[in-house]
Amino acid sequence: MTTLRAAGATDTGRVRRSNQDQVLVTDSLYAVADGMGGHNAGEVASLVAVEALRASFEAALSPTSDGDGDAATDVPSAEDLREAVRAANRAVFERSVSTEDLRGMGTTLTTVALVQADGEQRLAVANVGDSRAYVFAQGELTQLTEDHSVPEELVRQGQLDPEEVSNHPQRHILTRALGINADVEVDLWEILPFTGDRLLLCSDGLCRELTDDQISAVLRRLEDPAEVTKELVTRARASGGADNISVVLIDVVDDDDRSKVASAALASDPPVRTAAEVISDPEAEETGTPAPPSGPDEPPVAPVPVARGRRLTLRVVGFVLVLIVILGAAAGAVGVYARHTYYVGLSRNAAAGTSNAPATGTSLVIYKGRPGGLLWFQPTVAERPNVTTDDVLPSRLADLRAGKIEPTLAAAHAYLGNLVSEAASVHHPTTLPPLPATPGATTTSSVP
Ligand code: MG
Repeated sequence: MTTLRAAGATDTGRVRRSNQDQVLVTDSLYAVADGMGGHNAGEVASLVAVEALRASFEAALSPTSDGDGDAATDVPSAEDLREAVRAANRAVFERSVSTEDLRGMGTTLTTVALVQADGEQRLAVANVGDSRAYVFAQGELTQLTEDHSVPEELVRQGQLDPEEVSNHPQRHILTRALGINADVEVDLWEILPFTGDRLLLCSDGLCRELTDDQISAVLRRLEDPAEVTKELVTRARASGGADNISVVLIDVVDDDDRSKVASAALASDPPVRTAAEVISDPEAEETGTPAPPSGPDEPPVAPVPVARGRRLTLRVVGFVLVLIVILGAAAGAVGVYARHTYYVGLSRNAAAGTSNAPATGTSLVIYKGRPGGLLWFQPTVAERPNVTTDDVLPSRLADLRAGKIEPTLAAAHAYLGNLVSEAASVHHPTTLPPLPATPGATTTSSVP
């Protein structure tokens, strides 16, 4: 069974007069919400959202009858979390349109829940807005969510450099938030929890004040989640505290032996994970595109790719490079074997025929390569000597049809010369002067 330990902290900061953030920490559901709206509407929006989120998610957990009269507890899924966020959106939206003073209010919502999928426990992460979820695993901090803000959308579209985000005039304008329309698109991830992983949720009041390195230093140094959240708030205040600051930290303290199983499977080569294993966004995989805007007042929402793969590790890169070198060396060896030889054969058109008796006058050719080729290395014509099948003995045609291999071009020349000499000596035997006391003799050239 996966066991989590969590803590949350929120602070008004040093500039704002009220705190419009909300944090939620229960046994299996965690959230940060950052409200916005005039007067105290932002406080209402974040509070309504968190309460509706909790009520909707706990409804998915509530005991139901299994048909035999016994109570059975439903197992929540990542989709239950997505639906809970949509329920939170409806609650804020309905409150906004029904109350004059609260009109136009909205809130971000970043939430984590322990869910079940494929018979195992996972962490589902859902996000709308520019509050964030990070994973801190094996000493590395990785931002999991994408900010739904104007400059971050421009960065993803390649129209803005990441360095320009912090000074962009529209950095506070969200492209997606709860409460603006009757429905909302929700980004969703599932994560395999491993013992030692830390999930950090925060409002922009933290990540605008502290760098990733500063946050990582605190996560490395302090173990207790309550101390971590308190220290991060203290440091964000010291750094300026220009906005409300909210932090939730969730530690995986027991992963149901998932780490041990993974280690045993790779005993000689421990798994390298630079962050928790991100599985997928089921809805993104199904649809491939975000939901369309649901109302006339909804701000433009840029398409956001949601599904993410595992991070490329140095080990994977190294393995691929070694594989490329090995395959390259093998291809080179095959190339040397296939191309560093010659053979004497019939002109290809004749050799490709099925008859054992090539047409008279078929040209003989010296090829570079091996008869028939090898893999993708096909033989090429090295020379076309002015010799045809008429110039050699019929008994040599079988060898020529198959291709007579010679180690060098010079050896191929020699073989061809011998063939011609052999045939010529048979057709025109050399007459030697008679030797004393012996009859005349006929000599022939030998062909290797
Ligand atoms: Mg804020």
